[in-house]
Amino acid sequence: MEYSRPIYLDYNATTPVDPRVLDAMLPWFTEQFGNAASRTHLYGWEAADAVAHARQQVARLIGASEKEIIFTSGATEANNLALKGTFEALGAQKNHIVTVATEHKAVFDTCQHLEALGAEVTYLMPASDGLITLEQLENALRPDTLLVSVMYANNEIGVIQPIADIGRLCRERVIIFHTDATQAVGKIPVDVARDNIDLLSLSAHKLYGPKGIGALYVRKGIKLTAQLDGGRHERGLRSGTLNVPGIVGLGKACQLAGTSMLEEEKRLSILRDRLENEILNAVIDTHVNGNRTYRLPQTTNISFENVDGEALLMSFNRIAVSNGSACTSALIEPSYVLKALGVPDDLAHASVRFSLGRFTREADVEETIAHVRDVVERLRR
Ligand SMILES: *Cc1c(COP(=O)(O)O)cnc(C)c1O
Repeated sequence: MEYSRPIYLDYNATTPVDPRVLDAMLPWFTEQFGNAASRTHLYGWEAADAVAHARQQVARLIGASEKEIIFTSGATEANNLALKGTFEALGAQKNHIVTVATEHKAVFDTCQHLEALGAEVTYLMPASDGLITLEQLENALRPDTLLVSVMYANNEIGVIQPIADIGRLCRERVIIFHTDATQAVGKIPVDVARDNIDLLSLSAHKLYGPKGIGALYVRKGIKLTAQLDGGRHERGLRSGTLNVPGIVGLGKACQLAGTSMLEEEKRLSILRDRLENEILNAVIDTHVNGNRTYRLPQTTNISFENVDGEALLMSFNRIAVSNGSACTSALIEPSYVLKALGVPDDLAHASVRFSLGRFTREADVEETIAHVRDVVERLRR
């Protein structure tokens, strides 16, 4: 018996590679396989040209200059380089870092690592809607604050922090501002100049590019200590032979996002709103987690009361969704993001993130609404 694949509504976890991105990448595996650092022959020159072109495509999407883009293996590495690199370069002068309790683990755990090395870290608690306020941040700043790291948009609930205001405040106080913009880039307009961002992390596989490639934007003049020693690639900030096919794919993905973003934002927000509203209407005792205004266009996180969370996820066999729980050995820990919003453990377990994307169709949404209603009704009986 053959099973059809479930409807994919987990685009915040990863996206498929867009076929146009794959087409752009393919020659760089085979005929044009050169090392971008080879300076003595055509193979190297053409690879270096392709990397330069991709660097422009990435820079253009976020309003940066191509000299400010450092390719990494993804956003995890970009976050590590941003935080550890800043602390290592300047931590002897100032060692206080401000971040938020709902950051992705790649920022949160890096901050914990830096605490063990002598950094003092303040973890801001968001309000129950997932947002922090400017006053809250302002009150946390100290004369010895080196760095503020606040994610642009949250991967689990989609809320968008007041990044432009945070950037302005940090610039006034001469504090370095890093943002993990992995969920924002390609979905909503991001501009490092408008928002006064000094360091920004992004990842290709969240915007229809391949896994294992990303970038850190480093504003001109910002000092960082490299975390990998070696051939001094990427202006000495990230040694290692460049992943040319991956970089070409990231560049193409950024170019496509730039041309389709506004249209996609509109289309997906209509589909997301329909999904959300119809689930809330069809299933009683449900509510949305996080601020519904300052939010990504294609994410909704919904809590279902009076159902067992594990049974709920197990019963969703027609859709691929997630709920932010983490398996720590035998225990299933509820999402720390929802916990930080004050959602009780049992309700956090029974919360579901639906994240839509480029290949989500109206029929997928209709089928999902019916499936969710059927599953929750059955479980509640
Ligand atoms: C996916 C994600 C990351 C990690 O990116 P990788 O490229 O997979 O390392 C970091 N931050 C956020 C907000 C993400 O959504």
